[in-house]
Amino acid sequence: MATFLKTGKSEVEIKESNTKVQEIVSGIIKDVEENGDKAVQALAEKFDNWKASSFRLTDNQIAEIVKSVPEQTIEDIKFAQAQVRNFAEKQRECIKDLEVETLPGVTLGHKNIAVNSVGCYIPGGRYPMVASAHMSILTAKVAGVKRVIGCTPPIKGEIPAATVTAMYLAGADEIYILGGVQAMTAMAVGTETIEPVDMIVGPGNAFVAEAKRQLFGRVGIDLFAGPTETLVIADETSDAEIVATDLLGQAEHGPTSPSALITTSKTLAEDTIKEIERQLETLPTADVASVAWSDYGSIILVDSLEEAVVEADKLAYEHVEILTENPDYFLENMTNYGALFLGPETNVAYGDKVIGTNHTLPTKGAARFTGGLWVGKYLKTCTYQKATPEASVVIGEYGSRLCELEGFMGHKAQADLRVRRYKKEKVTN
Ligand code: NAD
Repeated sequence: MATFLKTGKSEVEIKESNTKVQEIVSGIIKDVEENGDKAVQALAEKFDNWKASSFRLTDNQIAEIVKSVPEQTIEDIKFAQAQVRNFAEKQRECIKDLEVETLPGVTLGHKNIAVNSVGCYIPGGRYPMVASAHMSILTAKVAGVKRVIGCTPPIKGEIPAATVTAMYLAGADEIYILGGVQAMTAMAVGTETIEPVDMIVGPGNAFVAEAKRQLFGRVGIDLFAGPTETLVIADETSDAEIVATDLLGQAEHGPTSPSALITTSKTLAEDTIKEIERQLETLPTADVASVAWSDYGSIILVDSLEEAVVEADKLAYEHVEILTENPDYFLENMTNYGALFLGPETNVAYGDKVIGTNHTLPTKGAARFTGGLWVGKYLKTCTYQKATPEASVVIGEYGSRLCELEGFMGHKAQADLRVRRYKKEKVTN
């Protein structure tokens, strides 16, 4: 039976903080809807200490910013973008249009059509999340989205030069220095100076993720991608130093980022706790990681690998690292996760920054019903149909009775008219 050796904050405390976030977000959305740019300016000043008459960067400003970034950084960004592009292009090739004859004379099909305009959020409150530019903007361009705009907040009153460079290199059509709920709302509903988009995507903190949830319906969204989560699954063969490093590596994202360990080995669990304490003494981001680990960290001891799968599927975490002797067992058996990292040779940091899979992934249990961001999220699978006159008569006779069964007499009239028209044509011929 699964036993908790360490737990994080209680469900009640988490629910209370979620309710507060929901209230703050709905207030900001209403303000931006009613007051447009004026509200956006006031909110940017309040939350990010950012005063600007226009949030959009001009082409000249972008060129100056790109020039200020060191050559090595540009090379590193280009390397990461090449990996993301390679994988996204291969994924796009797997998505096929379809046209089939399902009955003699009946042709049904679907086309995958890219959304016309997308607003990408590139987070940056705590760290400049350069990699998020490749994940959303570049992937949207591979999918064929015509207008891709990007918003990122200033960091400590400065424009994040490397992030803007990555947004530019990823192919953004418009770049705005704007963060948080005000950015999400401005992109979704538009303001006097920002043309609205059809879909908003990208990760962010609890406020940003909640904004997407509340704006869904007026625009499309990719998925619920809030504060990052990491699960490590380990057994007696795992290295406690690697387990501890990989748990803390994600806890540094923010004080509400959960990290969990599921293990079949009590010794490994105890060694990991000691390792975490040791590593927190020197980790430069220990102020954040230690709060996240203390408030949202958990350790679950299980009796078997089968039980590890059951517990991991219940958590449905964003990132799941498998450090057991046979990682492929989890690839074969797990069903709820954003991304799997199989074996100690890879890790969440590779996925987050450079290896090429998308890092915008489901959080808060959303992995039960969705995968992460990928080219397919930007495509609408739209169907069409055609029929010959003979086939229209066959379908129309069934259709007429089925419409009448439901009481839809206007629908029945559509079917009946076709039957009369095309049967008659057949007789005339
Ligand atoms: P962010 O850009 O998401 O948020 C910064 C903005 O939050 C600010 O511009 C401000 O407007 C707003 N804000 C801050 N405090 C507020 C308050 N009290 N009320 C209203 N608005 C407020 O940057 P961040 O805060 O550094 O968070 C980035 C997040 O993105 C982290 O939680 C990280 O884990 C997450 N992330 C998730 C994924 C994923 O795929 N799930 C991937 C990458 C990053």
